[in-house]
Amino acid sequence: MKLILLGPPGAGKGTQAKMLVERFGVPQISTGDILRVAVKEGTPMGLKAKSCMDSGALVPDDVVVGIVEERLQKDDCASGFILDGFPRTVPQADALTKTLAVMSKDLDAVISLEVDIEALVARLAGRRTCKACGAGYHLEYEPPAKPGVCDTCGGKLIQRDDDQEETIRNRMAVYLDQTLPLVEYYGKSGLLSKVDGMLPIEDVRRAILDALQVAE
Ligand code: ADP
Ligand code: AMP
Repeated sequence: MKLILLGPPGAGKGTQAKMLVERFGVPQISTGDILRVAVKEGTPMGLKAKSCMDSGALVPDDVVVGIVEERLQKDDCASGFILDGFPRTVPQADALTKTLAVMSKDLDAVISLEVDIEALVARLAGRRTCKACGAGYHLEYEPPAKPGVCDTCGGKLIQRDDDQEETIRNRMAVYLDQTLPLVEYYGKSGLLSKVDGMLPIEDVRRAILDALQVAE
């Protein structure tokens, strides 16, 4: 399965990607996760990306395109991948098209998670992530059994630096300006399916599998 998950910040791309990884046995490629690791480790790329990420702006196309090109060469992508948070601009989508052509690979589908922009501030403000294993939670919609503690590994749950209200609003503006045009871009390719991302998490998962025409 070679899939792109499109949608604004907080649409549920990461949440659904993790479930699709289990269903299809292919890796999730989240440029946001890769960049956060680089920032944490203080690599040259992380240092370059940090100020963009802190303000809610996009990291330059050449940086993220380089990350994805390198990641797609790894053996675990041989039978597919779930792209989460990439592409985010038309030049990134063009670069991906070229990279896949060179690798003689075709995308199977692009799923656009359709959500009410107003609901996203609440989703992002309540998002918590396990510092140790990266599992995602929501204080209200997907709470851990014990507050502040990861159900899976017992790690500490933290809030992302960029999930503060002012940065969230900036990220929404960036999304509308630079990423939303990709819905039309992939619509023209015939690969796009729109899925209602306002449904409960499990129903969104089922709707994605329906759109992909695969069984549970
Ligand atoms: P994205 O990767 O698109 O930025 P996430 O998957 O991290 O978004 O989801 C953002 C927050 O919203 C998380 O806290 C997650 O638990 C919650 N969430 C995801 N999908 C839903 C949903 N369908 N309904 C309610 N909350 C959701
Ligand atoms: P995410 O985890 O997908 O919400 O991404 C967090 C931040 O990482 C974004 O606000 C951007 O600053 C940066 N980022 C992630 N993916 C990309 C991308 N494809 N292009 C540019 N910047 C990105």
